[in-house]
Amino acid sequence: MLCVRAPVATFFAACLLALMSYPAPVSAAEDKPKPQVLVTNVNVFDGKSDTLAEGMSVLVEGNLIKKVANGAIEVRDDATVIDGGGRTLMPGFIETHAHLMLMGPSIPAMETNSTWEDFAIHGTKMAEMYLMQGFTTVRDAGGANAGLRRAIDSGMIVGPRFYPSAAFIGTRGGHADFANFTAPVGQSTNFTRLNMAKEADSVADVQKFGRNNFRMGATQLKYMQSGGVVSAFDPWQLLAGSKAEIEAAVQVAKEYGSYVMAHSYRKEAIMTALNAGVKSIEHGFAFDCEIAELMKKKGAYITTNLTAFDPGLLDIPSIKNVPSSLAKAKSASAAFAGYIDNMKKCPVKRAFQTDCVGPVAACNIQIAYEKHLNNKFFGAHASLVTLTSTGGELVALSGDFMNPYREGKLGVIEDGAYADIVIVDGNPLKDFSVVGTGDKWFGAKPRPESPETIRIIMKDGKIYKNTL
Ligand SMILES: [Zn+2]
Repeated sequence: MLCVRAPVATFFAACLLALMSYPAPVSAAEDKPKPQVLVTNVNVFDGKSDTLAEGMSVLVEGNLIKKVANGAIEVRDDATVIDGGGRTLMPGFIETHAHLMLMGPSIPAMETNSTWEDFAIHGTKMAEMYLMQGFTTVRDAGGANAGLRRAIDSGMIVGPRFYPSAAFIGTRGGHADFANFTAPVGQSTNFTRLNMAKEADSVADVQKFGRNNFRMGATQLKYMQSGGVVSAFDPWQLLAGSKAEIEAAVQVAKEYGSYVMAHSYRKEAIMTALNAGVKSIEHGFAFDCEIAELMKKKGAYITTNLTAFDPGLLDIPSIKNVPSSLAKAKSASAAFAGYIDNMKKCPVKRAFQTDCVGPVAACNIQIAYEKHLNNKFFGAHASLVTLTSTGGELVALSGDFMNPYREGKLGVIEDGAYADIVIVDGNPLKDFSVVGTGDKWFGAKPRPESPETIRIIMKDGKIYKNTL
């Protein structure tokens, strides 16, 4: 071809010329009808309803759900037909707070010893694990840029739809400051070089790094307001970032039609974030009815890792053996004791979050346990909504330009939605464990590559697992 042989200097000119000279070939793919997959004989959980629609058929055409109907649906002769055998068809699960790149075991270890290959390979294996556990969408809450999504969406590797936040944005000494304790202010670190975390100490910094994140493929921004419960230095009570800095993050996100998710624990932090226009409160352990009121007014969501309320947290070696961490974890547990009751009293839109940092096998266990805790605290219906439609609404806040998946809705089974589907044995509204739960965290046995009760996993109309 002309453009391949042209010298570098004339490469683009020659290619452009070639493109202009020849009429565009008529694509055979355009004329070919989209493949049809018809699933018959299923009971449907649509992502919202508290009952199953029984005796349904679901037609997938290409990557979208074409039709959901009671009884038969007409299809072409070449359609693939799957008999669901009376099982439950539901939306693929949505994780709204993961860190696919962060393999642990600690922040200093990742800062000092990890190369980009370590992060990339871990991210690849995490993506595969998430999909095979039934998650067809994952929002990353810091550390991943666009590369992983490109690899997944091009089919090079297997994984869920992916919404990265690029670098965590936080203040010096805050929860996104992964520098060695003795590193001077502003010194480049492993995390800053790879655009996994950025130290932002002014409105100008927030604007610069926020915009750079979108340039690196972020679909939304992540701002670190509070400190950490487990981390060694930053107090969880920290109120990092001025109102102006948080507003600056929101303003940058708005330039891109997107939103900000904020890591916020204390009530003061949550209220500041919501008043600044933050749409997604992460953790939000101090949640109460006054916060619920403001969240509703602002159209905001909350995602909470319920493992934080597990008494076993205090037995984790990295907490138990580090007196400063143990003291922090104890004071946090006491401060956050009202969360579950308040959420039941004044429910708001709550999406699923696991927040695992660590080896793939350990995260697999933690995800299954997080599912279990959702059911234990809030019951099957609320947990199923959390795992599906609420997550779908939340990731769609990335807007008309930055959302990479704009053809259909996520987290619901309805005409026109993306064909992101799982079929499970039994009725998850009656027996929630069929979605792949685990009732133990530490000391749990390794989990299967994919739960046996999840019989079909489909993403974007493509089947990744089928044991029917
Ligand atoms: Zn997190």
